[in-house]
Amino acid sequence: MRINIQLACTECKRRNYATSKNKKNTTGRLEVKKYCPWDRKHTVHRETK
Ligand SMILES: [Zn+2]
Repeated sequence: MRINIQLACTECKRRNYATSKNKKNTTGRLEVKKYCPWDRKHTVHRETK
């Protein structure tokens, strides 16, 4: 079952991306390196509700 999540930048705490994940395959919090337009660089983005 896929659920929608938001990805928030760990540096500026802004929510920059919306995506979905499969709860069965991804246990715990999803972390992805993505470009943050506010920091103007790639940062770690973490799943939020
Ligand atoms: Zn940021």
